[in-house]
Amino acid sequence: MSLLSSKLKAVRPSPTIAITRTAAELRRQGKDIIGLSQGEPDFDTPDHIKAAAKAAIDKGATKYTDVDGTPELKAAVAAKFRRENGLNYDASMVSVGTGGKQVIYNALCATLDAGDEVVVPAPYWVSYPDMVRLAGGTPVIPLCLEASGFKLTPAILRAALSQRTKWLILNSPSNPTGAGYSAAELKGLAEVLLDFPAVHVLTDDMYEHLRYDGWQFATIAAVEPRLFSRTLTVNGVSKSYAMTGWRIGFAGGPSELIKAMATLQSQSTTNPSSVSQAAAVAALTGPLDFLAERNAVFQTRRDLCLEAFSRIEGLSCATPEGAFYLYPSCAGLIGRKRPDGRVIANDADFVDYLLSDANVAAVPGVAFGLEPYFRISFATGTDRLHAACARIAAACAALK
Ligand code: PLP
Repeated sequence: MSLLSSKLKAVRPSPTIAITRTAAELRRQGKDIIGLSQGEPDFDTPDHIKAAAKAAIDKGATKYTDVDGTPELKAAVAAKFRRENGLNYDASMVSVGTGGKQVIYNALCATLDAGDEVVVPAPYWVSYPDMVRLAGGTPVIPLCLEASGFKLTPAILRAALSQRTKWLILNSPSNPTGAGYSAAELKGLAEVLLDFPAVHVLTDDMYEHLRYDGWQFATIAAVEPRLFSRTLTVNGVSKSYAMTGWRIGFAGGPSELIKAMATLQSQSTTNPSSVSQAAAVAALTGPLDFLAERNAVFQTRRDLCLEAFSRIEGLSCATPEGAFYLYPSCAGLIGRKRPDGRVIANDADFVDYLLSDANVAAVPGVAFGLEPYFRISFATGTDRLHAACARIAAACAALK
């Protein structure tokens, strides 16, 4: 009898975490690796948030809390949804978990049975399909090509939906492409969803605050109020507030689902860290001026990478509306030979070549379900980004 469950055998370890670990190992061996594989801001958590955590420790807020969030944090989350998104969730409609990742996993585990389908548009965040499989469901993966901005269109959505569809997962701005849906685009998708009353929408708005060129964020339950009762709006503090290590994510949704997610959490991890919850209250109720400053820096970095890639023969790159990723195509380099004679047959080979010959860590498009692309994060210091682009350019020029 095998020790590991058949369920687990269908799941891949997170490729982004694996590449980041390899890069760290190479660094330990003395190599000067520039890591562009990790999805986290290089900025520090703002001081007022850290201060709130320290105060919480000093006040003795170091014990178990309510399973799916303290009343203070649930109130702050509800106020955030009202203020920033025009969504009216009361406390019974709010769930707080250990990162957005746990909240999404809870929702899928609480709702999926064998045979249930979840539409996961590709390119997707690496964890969605595996989470669906772990929860016992089946991911249905329509391809959203660069020609449609890496976004789902009403026609692609309609073709992907079936009588077995339980969820559609949306992610805007997107990891890995940075593509964001406009309110009009969401309205078009909502029209289709109104024809499928059994389908729920999980919208992952984790990168809401990271946006460029004046792009306007919109979320589907606000764009189409008739979908409010069947939408789970997921968000968190990890990316916007540079709080990846604090592990706080949250969602607003129908009370029945929120209650089921709490039951699941009560039998797995119980509450997220009490100290992190206090910090998240400060994040959600505190000043937001640092966001504009940081976004301006991110935008400069995005533009410097876009400019550098536009000069590299064989690469091309769409301009992202938000998040801190670029998803360049390496189609023009497939079939070329490395200096050691090995052929670049796909994006995984290309990323492997970048790591071994350019000392730059990126993530291959195959991990996100659309090839041949690769993802880099531009949440890295400007000097390092310049150096990374120069190394990538030299490596590409060395291909025959
Ligand atoms: N959703 C997306 C699209 C992400 O990129 C990430 C993190 O990389 C998450 C959710 C998870 O965020 P958290 O760190 O809050 O678990």
